[in-house]
Amino acid sequence: MQIGFANSGFVPAPETVLRRGGAWRWRDLRVRYGVLRHPVRGVWLIDTGIGPQALSAPGRGFALRAYAAALRYRLCETQAPHAVLDRMGLRPRDVAGVIVTHFHADHVARLAEFPMARIVAHGPTLARIRAAHDLVNQRHGVFPDLIPQGLEARLTCVTTLPRVALPFGLGEGADLFGDGSCVVVELPGHAAGHFGIAFAEAGLLYACDAAWLREGLAEAQAPGLPLRLVLEDRTAAARSAALAAGWQAAGGQVMLCHDPEPTAFDLPEAGLP
Ligand SMILES: [Zn+2]
Repeated sequence: MQIGFANSGFVPAPETVLRRGGAWRWRDLRVRYGVLRHPVRGVWLIDTGIGPQALSAPGRGFALRAYAAALRYRLCETQAPHAVLDRMGLRPRDVAGVIVTHFHADHVARLAEFPMARIVAHGPTLARIRAAHDLVNQRHGVFPDLIPQGLEARLTCVTTLPRVALPFGLGEGADLFGDGSCVVVELPGHAAGHFGIAFAEAGLLYACDAAWLREGLAEAQAPGLPLRLVLEDRTAAARSAALAAGWQAAGGQVMLCHDPEPTAFDLPEAGLP
């Protein structure tokens, strides 16, 4: 299976907020999403990144406009999913499925561009979002306007997938494709239902938002204020960051959604071969 990550945009953040003890300097965080090509199951995305639906689309609610104004994202349109797919000779309808690691705006903004794709996500979290008051969702960084209506009809809930064992002390996870190549790993704490993906063959753990920077991951440094305050569950988040650090310490590679440094798994301009 081929694995790559594209960068949908940048968002500036002070390092001291990203990790306790960080320097007083601004870092340009990436907002990655994944592109997978499985020999049997086809092309899949991991999240969709940030997009104009969250930042500039007319008709956005007040909360989404305030979110966009506060975070000052810069879109990388040449690395948007449709642009990357185009360079791979594919269209959005060729995407077999989208794995939604959690429902924060910078992970689901472009979901509406894939109305035919299978969705893999944490079903109970989606049900709670649908039932919750707008203010509750907004407080957790979730904007239901970005989650297409009727998504449930094409949803595979990660809790229904078969369980398999994982290397590097990660315990077990949910086997997405039935061949152990792509395993959903619960990494709670950052957001409700948040998970990562382990690619055992490549020795890669996509830990998504279990940490913001790879730097300091080994010391399991907690984020600084105010990021610590927006965590769904601080104790669980610390445990999840420690799981990712353990994978790294055992010789595996860890990839994060927002880490500013380029990695070997960042996609070349042409996309996956
Ligand atoms: Zn997030």
